Amino acid sequence: MRVLIFILANILLTSGNLDKVQHERDKLFNEELQMMIGSDIELSDSEIKANEVIMDLKNEELEHGFLHPGNFNVSKHFFEYKESVKKTKLYQLIKNMPKGAVLHAHDTAVLGPDYILSLTYWKDLFVCFDGDDINLLFSRNVPNTTCGTEWQLMRDARFSSGNVEKFDADLKQHFSLVIDNPEEVYTDINTVWSIFQSLFGVIGPVVTYKPVWEQYFYDTLKALREDGVMYFEVRSVLPQLYDLDGVTYDSVATAESYKKVVDQFMVDYPDFFGAKLIYAPLRLVEKKTVKEYLEIAREIKRRMPGFLAGFDLVGQEDLGRPLKSFMSELVEASKEFDLFLHAGETNWSGLSSDENLYDAIALGTKRIGHGYSIIKHPVLMREIKKKDIALEVNVVSNSVLKLVSDVRNHPLAAMLALDLPVVLSSDDPGLWEAEPLSHDFYVAFVGVASKHADLRVLKKLALNSLYYSTYPNKDKLVHDFQIRWTKFIDSVVRDKW
Ligand SMILES: [Zn+2]
Repeated sequence: MRVLIFILANILLTSGNLDKVQHERDKLFNEELQMMIGSDIELSDSEIKANEVIMDLKNEELEHGFLHPGNFNVSKHFFEYKESVKKTKLYQLIKNMPKGAVLHAHDTAVLGPDYILSLTYWKDLFVCFDGDDINLLFSRNVPNTTCGTEWQLMRDARFSSGNVEKFDADLKQHFSLVIDNPEEVYTDINTVWSIFQSLFGVIGPVVTYKPVWEQYFYDTLKALREDGVMYFEVRSVLPQLYDLDGVTYDSVATAESYKKVVDQFMVDYPDFFGAKLIYAPLRLVEKKTVKEYLEIAREIKRRMPGFLAGFDLVGQEDLGRPLKSFMSELVEASKEFDLFLHAGETNWSGLSSDENLYDAIALGTKRIGHGYSIIKHPVLMREIKKKDIALEVNVVSNSVLKLVSDVRNHPLAAMLALDLPVVLSSDDPGLWEAEPLSHDFYVAFVGVASKHADLRVLKKLALNSLYYSTYPNKDKLVHDFQIRWTKFIDSVVRDKW
C-alpha cells in the first residue's frame, strides 16, 4: 500500500512538473512570437486565408529542406538557385505581391547583363579589346583615346566575329558577376569587391552616354514597377555624362537628366509614385573632394528642391575612408541634408568599418545602408529603435559580396526577431542577375526569417519601406498600397496558387 501511494504521488508530482515546464516553454515561445516584426498587424479574414496558402507553401519548402539540407536552395550560393526558385509557387506569389519602395539600390546596377548587352546594339558604339579587358565608348568618330588594340565599331566587331551568339555571350560576361565557380574565384571579400567594382568600370562608358543614361533609368523604373515596387530612392555617384561629340555634362546636369526621366515616367505611368535621388559619391577620397561633393549637393537642392532626398558615401567600407575621417564635413552636411549613410557593411567587429555605425548614428543618419554588423552592438540597436532609424538590409548582396555564405546565418534573422526597424532592398541586383526586389523578399522570407514568420512580416516589411521613405505624402502612398494589397490578397485567396 505504501509503495502504491509513493508511486501515485510521484506520478502526480512528475505531471505537475511537466505541466509547469510545458507552460513555461509556451510562455517563452509566445513572448518571442509577440516580439517579432509585424506582430502588431491584425490580419483580416481574407488575409488569414491568404496566410494559410502562403504558409503551406513556405512550410513545404522548409520541411523538405529540414529533412534534406543538401536540397535546401537558399542555403547555397545565390548563383546556384537564382533561376530555379523563380519557378516555385511561393516565388511567383511574392513576385506578384506589392512590395512598397526600393530605398537602397545603386542606379547603374539595377538592370542585368542582358539589358546592357541590348545597349551594345545601339549605333555609334565603339569597342576595343585589350587582353581580357574591354573598352566601350559611344562616339561620332573613331575614339582617339589610347587602347591596347584598335577601336572598331561594335557592329563591325560583332559581325566580323563569325559567331554572333558566342560574341554576345562573351560580351555579356563582362557585365555580370555571375560565374559557374564563384567559391573558387571569389575567395575573399576584397577579391569579390574588386571584380564587382571593375564591372562598374566596364558598364560606365556605356550608360553614361546621355541618351542611354536616360533610357536606362526609364527602363529601371519600368522594371521596378513590374516587380511590385511603387516608389524608388535611387543612389547615384552622379557621373559625368557625354554625347557623341565628346561634350561632357557635370553631376548637376546628370541629376537633371534623372529628374526629367522621372517626370516623363510619371506621365506615362501615373500609378507610380516617382523617385528621389540620394547623392552617393565615392568614399575613397580626400577631405577636399567631400567638400566639393557637398557643393554639388547644394546646387542640386537649389535647382531641384524636393528631388534630392539626401547624401551618402559609397564604396567598400573595409578599404574606404571611415566616416570619422570626414567628420567636420559630414557635420556640416547633416545641417543641410538628410543623411542615409552606408555603415557596418562588414564582418569585422570593432574595426573602422564596423565603427562607422557609431558615427552614422551620432551624425543623425535617417537610415543606415546595410548596418550588417549592428547585431554586435546592443547599445546601437537600442538607439536605432529609440530614434527610429531604419536599417536598409540587402540579403542577396551580402551573400554574393561574401559577408555570409549561408543566408540562414544572416543577422537579419535576429533583426526581425528583435523587431528592429528594417527595410528590405536589393543594392545592385542587376550585377548578380537578381530581379529588382523579388529575390530579396523571397530569400529573406524563406531562408532568413523564422519558420513562424508569416504574411504579417511580409506586409510589415513592405509598409516599412513606405514609412521610412522620404516621400512627402505618406498617407496617400500607404492608402494606395492598401488598395494594391487587398487586390493581391483577393487573388491569392481566389486562385489558391
Ligand atoms: Zn549600397
